[in-house]
Amino acid sequence: MYEDCPQCGIHFEREDGYFMMSVFVGYVMGVVITIPVLLILYLTIRPSVWGYLIGATVALIILSPLIFHYARVIWMYIDQLLDPRRENEK
Ligand SMILES: [Zn+2]
Repeated sequence: MYEDCPQCGIHFEREDGYFMMSVFVGYVMGVVITIPVLLILYLTIRPSVWGYLIGATVALIILSPLIFHYARVIWMYIDQLLDPRRENEK
């Protein structure tokens, strides 16, 4: 990930631990992704409990790079909405 935006130059990590909240966003995204996976498994092959566990785990492992990336993006949007950057802040 770039430290600064290549387009406008703003510094992404506003303070130490800035992206800690993105972990929570990623957790919510993981839950939102897992529910349809479990539903599809239930409606199609109806596996055992281990089948659901393995299915959800495989889906989350495959999608973890996307979840990691977009959790940060969504967190920056939420942060900008709640605490907009000032004009002199980079
Ligand atoms: Zn930018």
